[in-house]
Amino acid sequence: MLYRRPRGVNDILPSEVGRWQQAEATFRELCRLYRYDEIRTPMFEDTELFVRAVGEETDIVGKEMYTFTDRGGRSLTLRAEGTAPVIRAYLENNLQGQDPKRITKLYYIAPVFRYDRPQAGRYRQHHQCGAEAIGSLEPAVDAEIIQLSLRFFSKLGIKEVTLLLNSVGCPACRPGYVEALKSQVAPQLGQLCRECQRRFETNPLRMLDCKNETCQAIMQNAPVLRDMLCPDCAEHFAQLQETLDVLDVPYTLDPTIVRGLDYYTKTAFEFVAPGLGAKDSIGGGGRYDELIEQCGGPPTPAVGVGIGLERVLIAQEAANAT
Ligand SMILES: [Zn+2]
Ligand SMILES: [Zn+2]
Repeated sequence: MLYRRPRGVNDILPSEVGRWQQAEATFRELCRLYRYDEIRTPMFEDTELFVRAVGEETDIVGKEMYTFTDRGGRSLTLRAEGTAPVIRAYLENNLQGQDPKRITKLYYIAPVFRYDRPQAGRYRQHHQCGAEAIGSLEPAVDAEIIQLSLRFFSKLGIKEVTLLLNSVGCPACRPGYVEALKSQVAPQLGQLCRECQRRFETNPLRMLDCKNETCQAIMQNAPVLRDMLCPDCAEHFAQLQETLDVLDVPYTLDPTIVRGLDYYTKTAFEFVAPGLGAKDSIGGGGRYDELIEQCGGPPTPAVGVGIGLERVLIAQEAANAT
């Protein structure tokens, strides 16, 4: 054999492709039902889009992107996450139209590229299906996205999915929380892992979801963001929980759900299923009410979800085995 596939990527063989097709068809069908339209964006974007949208200090931008210079000297990056390209396309093609009240609902199924340490369900090219609802602040839309995701898992036979829910606040209330978090953690800064010592300065919220045991023990005593939300965020979070209660969707409040990306505001959530390591989610998402303005559009609230298809298929296999 002269050639092998590059490290961290996978062939999907004829014997497996049926399950992929089934999962993709199930997602498409649900999106049709919920009135989301498909969008297909290019495999690569200007690097700057991901840097600006996802955040310079995030793991994705800091160390996981596949970035290259093309023959014209442009810096391009393979799709590093699902939302930023959709928002770029939404703005560039004026999908909003003339009606400021319109909610634009889009979905995608696409490969995502991350230079990540390869492990079960984590590949350097993995596949995501995602949905974005653009143009509404209503907590009911957050609930819709969550419900759509749960129905997807359930239709694939993955029944024991746990919804972990949090609010990460907004530019009005998060800075106060970050200050409180830093002053609580500061005396033990030397005991944190090296990554967290860096995050303390660059991205303090990420200390909360560190997998290091010592860090986790220290974070046990950290102040809780959802106790320090501004009235607007608190009201939004309370309404979302009420809506989920009405829909009979169980959830667990988890202050460590902060997501790895800078653009999240208010709602943040993850789905955890048996079959993958503890805390290894099969999908997640949240609100990003500032992102569209950051990308040069008018202030527009939005909420979305991204689901890892490789992990979903692992969870499905585990569910079938029991
Ligand atoms: Zn707030
Ligand atoms: Zn740490």
